[in-house]
Amino acid sequence: MKRNFIPYGKQYIDEDDINEVIKVLKSDYLTTGPEIEKFEADFAKYVGSKYAVAISNGTAALHAACFATGINIGDEVITTPMTFAASANAILYCGGIPVFADINPLTYNIDPEKIREKITNRTKAIIPVHFTGQPCDMDEINNIAKEFNLTVIEDASHALGAIYKDRKIGAISDMSTFSFHPVKHITTGEGGMITTDRKDLYEKLILFRSHGITRNNDLLEKKNEESWYYEQCELGYNFRITDIQCALGRSQLRKIDMFVNRRIEIANIYNEAFDKIDWITIPYQDNNRLSSWHIYILKFDLNKLNMKRNDIFNILKTKGIGVNLHYIPVYLHPYYKKLGYERGLCPEAESLYEYIITIPLFPMMTDEDVERVIESVINL
Ligand SMILES: *Cc1c(COP(=O)(O)O)cnc(C)c1O
Repeated sequence: MKRNFIPYGKQYIDEDDINEVIKVLKSDYLTTGPEIEKFEADFAKYVGSKYAVAISNGTAALHAACFATGINIGDEVITTPMTFAASANAILYCGGIPVFADINPLTYNIDPEKIREKITNRTKAIIPVHFTGQPCDMDEINNIAKEFNLTVIEDASHALGAIYKDRKIGAISDMSTFSFHPVKHITTGEGGMITTDRKDLYEKLILFRSHGITRNNDLLEKKNEESWYYEQCELGYNFRITDIQCALGRSQLRKIDMFVNRRIEIANIYNEAFDKIDWITIPYQDNNRLSSWHIYILKFDLNKLNMKRNDIFNILKTKGIGVNLHYIPVYLHPYYKKLGYERGLCPEAESLYEYIITIPLFPMMTDEDVERVIESVINL
């Protein structure tokens, strides 16, 4: 008998979520209505930031943050290769140049010392990514940023609910970006958010989300015009999010503690089980930070096992375990190779990539599911 397939990630939607969406569908506004500001306020309160800007998806959030930073043709932005392509693509959208700094092989996160080595007089910003939900070395990164006058944009797509030295991710750097894709901590179907404490950045983000058009008298070139008057002062996009999505987002956010706690609970069960296996390295955890565990990654000692990574991947797939791979180092993709990036640029990231597999982790997993994943891995 073929057993149920356990995906690597999945949303959790309950009756409350459904009812909140229905309410919006029956209301006057499907978009540009009241749910958007309410979602932003709830989100800002949760992470502890002054402002939050809801946007159409996590990639648009990164794009908006690069725009607000002022990234332009030829500007260099330092990021990690161990991420989803969007973290680097956002730099390209603005005409900037992604500069990849290697990871720390222990934490899998961008190495602050490697960031330092990559700084030139064209460097404008750093985009650290809290890979798997494990916070980066934010004190070190922000110190470097201060020293060289750089903007820090945290790609926190994996890290809603994560904590760095008693502060929630989203309230630390110039800006932080989040994604609400269904595999992330909360979902709006598609959706994203940027958090910041800076009013100047907040105003640019709001402009960028909606065509660069404003009615804000402070920003208008012609002051005190008629009430219908507006100006386009930047080249923005239509990256708006709908009220339908924001109502779902607000309802999801009410469950965030449950979501994060269950993820931590499952990760702890995995850690305990896999730590005993001498051909597995479990993910690193730091004492003064809390991962929100977006994904769970195993590193295999292929020599000890005398197996190929692809064989492990296929065996687990056959057993109905939704394995995945996070990530192919960004610059190894053909598009980036065409831009001139070459293998060997970040040896630690390239090496890690050869040995890792992502196993299922999402709040709805039953203890039985978790046991089945452990059994399947241990008895390859
Ligand atoms: C999911 C994700 C994004 C993009 O988010 P979307 O909402 O899918 O556009 C960006 N960066 C990282 C690291 C992600 O995991």
